[in-house]
Amino acid sequence: MNDSRSDAFRSDPSRPLRPDTRAVHVPQPAVEGSRPITMPIYQTSGFTFDDPAVMAESMGRPDGAYVYGRYTNPTVRSLELAVSGLEGGAAAIATGSGMGAINTVLLALLKPGDHLIAQSSLYGGTAAMLGELTGRFGITVTHVPENDPAALRAAVRPETRLVYLETISNPMTLVADLPGMCAAARELGLVSVVDNTFATAILCRPIEHGADVVVHSTTKYLSGHTDVVGGIAVFAAQELYERVWHFAIELGASAEPFASWLVARGLQTLALRMERHCSNARLLATRLAEHPAVAAVHWPGLASHPSYELAGKLLSGFGGVFSFDLAGGRAAGEKFMSSVRLALLAPSLGGVETLVLHPATTSHRSLSAEELERSGIGEGTVRISVGIEHPEDLWADLAQALA
Ligand SMILES: *Cc1c(COP(=O)(O)O)cnc(C)c1O
Repeated sequence: MNDSRSDAFRSDPSRPLRPDTRAVHVPQPAVEGSRPITMPIYQTSGFTFDDPAVMAESMGRPDGAYVYGRYTNPTVRSLELAVSGLEGGAAAIATGSGMGAINTVLLALLKPGDHLIAQSSLYGGTAAMLGELTGRFGITVTHVPENDPAALRAAVRPETRLVYLETISNPMTLVADLPGMCAAARELGLVSVVDNTFATAILCRPIEHGADVVVHSTTKYLSGHTDVVGGIAVFAAQELYERVWHFAIELGASAEPFASWLVARGLQTLALRMERHCSNARLLATRLAEHPAVAAVHWPGLASHPSYELAGKLLSGFGGVFSFDLAGGRAAGEKFMSSVRLALLAPSLGGVETLVLHPATTSHRSLSAEELERSGIGEGTVRISVGIEHPEDLWADLAQALA
């Protein structure tokens, strides 16, 4: 604040400021002659202006001067630029959680009476939210398979606005036919939204395949260290970004500077981590598939998986999360969960440590028997988010838990 018009007033020796005031108005040093290597945490809720006209003008547009933390902040913007760049988008809006990003996009683009088409198997929180949209706002939903553009076309109505997909689904790891589904959406004048949390921009960039919006829970791989909750929505076109931005600043699902800094820091090692997550997952999935206690393994890198061929074309790696069905059903699932020693029992995914989860009794407990069946989740299904530990240590743990 060295150039601030306040400086002369603050430092006038004929009228020294009282301690009460000086405690509040601490002059901030300008950084000149060099730049920080990493983005600092701008832990401020707002920004002050020398010129009131600049302030007034900046409040109404996303690319003006920084105004207020709910709109954005230099640390948050730095993350928005980084993820937008990785995904090949025009601009992004960082949010306080993945659900914050998903809801910001859905609520900005839909109104009562609208219809949307979503793939059958969805992240639990998203599925629950679609139910809320129907119950509260009369926004109806039709589910279609993630790889069936003909079913998408057949489901369209005059009031259809949006198509919602996930690059890789949870926990059965079905891969969406993004080129086919997004092309159909575009032809029909619908906005396509793709949750790319499981794949990340390292394995797949949905905008390259025709998506209009990409959403992420940055809580997962993007931050990668199980220490922050966050989300982001990336827009292929500036126009759609601006439409959602005007709504987003009023909705208030904003990202915090420190949380954004943690995500941006994690992002720097994303490519390295994804490589290890994927190679560790390959070793474990391959060995589990041969184990007598395991009835089936659902990882798109196995030739037995229904998405194997599509995944080979669409993804540059098969991902670090997969599920497997224990032959012994629910009892075997519960025994396995209490027998693992290195893998941690926890929800969430995408961190450096390996986590296991029994969906039927945890993440998917709110689903009816019918919905469970539709998602392909059995009573003995275990989901594993494979970390970056040494793969043989992980295998030793799983093998003893299965014995
Ligand atoms: C975790 C997750 C979300 C929700 O993100 P939060 O950060 O928990 O709000 C959405 N989609 C997918 C695929 C997820 O894994």
